Amino acid sequence: MLMIDDNLRASRQTAQQRPDLQISFEFFPPKTDAMEEKFWQSVHRLAPLKPRFVSVTYGAGGSTRERTLRMVSRIKAETGVDAAAHLTCVGATRNAVDAVVRGYMEAGINRIVALRGDPPEGVGQPFTPHPDGYQNAADLVAGLNRLGTFDITVAAYPERHPQSSDWRTEIDNLKRKIDAGADRAITQMFFTNADYLRYLERARAAGITAPIVPGIQPIHSFRQIASFAGRCGTTIPAWLAERFEGLDEDPETHALVASAVAAEQVTELLDEGVTEFHIYTHNRSPLALALARMLGRRPEVGAGS
Ligand code: FAD
Repeated sequence: MLMIDDNLRASRQTAQQRPDLQISFEFFPPKTDAMEEKFWQSVHRLAPLKPRFVSVTYGAGGSTRERTLRMVSRIKAETGVDAAAHLTCVGATRNAVDAVVRGYMEAGINRIVALRGDPPEGVGQPFTPHPDGYQNAADLVAGLNRLGTFDITVAAYPERHPQSSDWRTEIDNLKRKIDAGADRAITQMFFTNADYLRYLERARAAGITAPIVPGIQPIHSFRQIASFAGRCGTTIPAWLAERFEGLDEDPETHALVASAVAAEQVTELLDEGVTEFHIYTHNRSPLALALARMLGRRPEVGAGS
């Protein structure tokens, strides 16, 4: 019988035994007053877990520019947690993007998640940069570093970006972004840990030493996540689909299975030596809180309220 010694498993260490563990949370800017209330409830529940930062996405083509800025500024002011603003360059001139960056600087935001963004017709369509715009994410990172001093995160794709023709193109592109001055990458969601671990190997073999933080997607709604996965190139393995089969009308069991699936994913990654995690929250706190617990994080009394 195979016995795994618990002492050898990082997931069996206490929080004190792994002080290097870091988490971050991702939110999207709420569209309505009701959504905004839920957003703040979640932020205030997750902030006391002392994330390294909380990030707020940038709607397709810059559609949430004002809201992204408002949310990151308030998160920082109200919770004391560092906030990162996402920024895309699709469909905008350099001057327009630079003006948004100056707005972030004026608001005291110096963490940016720098992205190219998707063409308005969808990720399946070819990308054409604005004639006076940044060409891609690597170009945007270089532009940011000309404008000021930022902590910059970029995107990485353990199953390759749908527009990367092969692994060489994928990894070369990540390297260009890091060489342009990015501090770390966060991955697209993935459900097969081996894909992430192979990606890490490929990146390290190409001389990329920056952290490549796994983006963990708790499955709040299997139907929604499966549909999004199809659009962004993430595979839904057959075993995962099977676990959620028939649960659309059974939210309680769905939530329990989602929690178990996400816990299994982070436990395996911890045991593989991963020390940094980025959690996609979809502006909800329960699964993110449970996952943070699995990673040894408990709220610090008095923080984030
Ligand atoms: P890039 O790194 O520029 O590259 C995208 C593709 O183009 C790759 O296939 C690359 O190989 C290819 N490519 C780039 N330059 C070249 C070149 N010179 N020659 C050949 N090929 C090249 N989208 C939003 O709209 N808002 C968000 O807030 C947002 N947040 C995200 C957060 C994370 C963590 C992730 C993983 C994605 C996020 N996205 C967001 C989605 C992202 O905008 C899309 O995935 C987009 O299609 C690619 O952006 P990128 O920054 O990875 O692009």
